[in-house]
Order: sequence, then C-alpha cells, then structure tokens
Amino acid sequence: MGKQLKYKRILYKASGEALMGEQGFGIDPETLARVAGDIIEAKALGIDIGVVIGGGNIFRGLSLAAKGADRVTGDHMGMLATVMNALALRMELEKQGAEAVVLSGLAIPAVCEPFSQRALLKHRDKGRIVIFAGGTGSPYFTTDTGAALRAAEFGAEAIFKGTQVDGVYSADPKKDQNAVRYENLSHSEVLEKGLEVMDAAAISLARDNNIPVVIFSIADKGGLANILCGEGRSTTISG
Ligand code: UDP
Repeated sequence: MGKQLKYKRILYKASGEALMGEQGFGIDPETLARVAGDIIEAKALGIDIGVVIGGGNIFRGLSLAAKGADRVTGDHMGMLATVMNALALRMELEKQGAEAVVLSGLAIPAVCEPFSQRALLKHRDKGRIVIFAGGTGSPYFTTDTGAALRAAEFGAEAIFKGTQVDGVYSADPKKDQNAVRYENLSHSEVLEKGLEVMDAAAISLARDNNIPVVIFSIADKGGLANILCGEGRSTTISG
C-alpha cells in the first residue's frame, strides 16, 4: 500500500545555490545529479511536479545594480542564468530516465519552449516533469515570485521551498541559540514578522491564491520525498 499523501500536485522551488555544491559557483555535476534524483523520487510517489529553479549560483541582477549598472539588464542576465540551470536540470533528469520539459518565461525559442499555460497543462497531463525557467519573465521580480505565480497556473496544492535550514526560525539559528523553529505560520504572520523566508511579493501571491508554502532542508538526500510523506522537519505557511 502506498503512503497517504497530503498533496498530489506540487511546485518545487530550488534556488540556484542548491546546484552549486561546495564549489561556491555554477553547477556541480554531483549535486545536480542528487537534486534530479530527489525530484524523480518525489515524482515516483505518484504526484505531478513542477520545478522553479533560481539563478543565484550564476548571476543576480541586484549584484550588478549595486555597482551602478542598469537593473533591467542585470535582471535579464539573472533570468538567463535560470535558463542555464533549467537546461542542466532537464539534461540530468532525462539522463536518469525521466521525461522533462523546460518552459521559459523569458522566450528563447531556439533553446526551450516559451511559457504558456496551455503548454504547461499539456505537458503536466502527459506526466512530464515541468521545469519553469526565466522566473516571471519580467525584471524586478525573483524566482520565488515566479514559483508562486507558476504554482497558481500549474494548479499546485502547495509550494515546497528547499532551503539550507529545516524550516522558518524566529531568528537565525546559526547566530542565536534561542531561535525557535515554527511548525506552522500564516502567510500574514510571515509578512507581519518580516521573516526572510520568501520575498513579500511571493508570500502575498501565495496567500491570495490560498497556496500553502512548505519550507524544508535540501541538505539530506531524499528530503523532498520524506517531507511529502509527512516525515522530517519543516514549517508550513498556510491560512
Ligand atoms: N529574475 C528576474 N525576474 C524574475 C526572476 C528572476 O529578473 O521573475 C532575475 C533577478 O536578477 C534574480 C536572478 O534572476 O536575481 C536570479 O533569480 P533569483 O535571485 O530568484 O535566484 P535564486 O536566489 O533562487 O537562486
């Protein structure tokens, strides 16, 4: 008998940093293989899975803007970084035997399919892993907001955000011994307390569309499937 799953369709958000491993930049092949394996394992539970991948391991628009350069150009470069990560992830998923497709909010038709909800639903209903590249496709946003947007369009029942820590804490657990992990929070509490777990635009969009956000650690192999099965530690933001 299979395990009883709370969610049958999810949006998994992995930051670009999740792919870089110990090397501090770019894509580490072993780490990429592990992330892809985790996604395949989660999919094998019998769920629909969409993936939003960030680009911070390669480029962030703000880093350029901080040095006085044009923010919009920087953000275009950041979005291109997410496309690079998405292509790497698709390649690895296919190498491991899964069917995967990249849809990009920033249209680069020679490289991958441009995003449209119709294309998304077609691939989803054929059982493919859908990777969303290019964030929202617009500057001044982040891939967290892209995750909230695509989750709504995908019909996802929850967003699973993999991070370096196993949930949302009252303070930075690495710096403050008294930091406590929240088991549950509301979207509004995250905004009111100014908890830096996702940017405010992403949390508001998730709240407006009644989509819970589950924060968990990607440090351990198989973390995503465990959390989906109700095991391990996480924080659920809902209601
Ligand atoms: N970006 C953007 N619009 C979006 C999503 C991303 O302009 O909708 C750009 C922005 O410059 C951002 C970069 O792409 O810094 C990489 O995305 P993000 O920082 O969200 O990646 P992560 O932190 O998840 O690795």
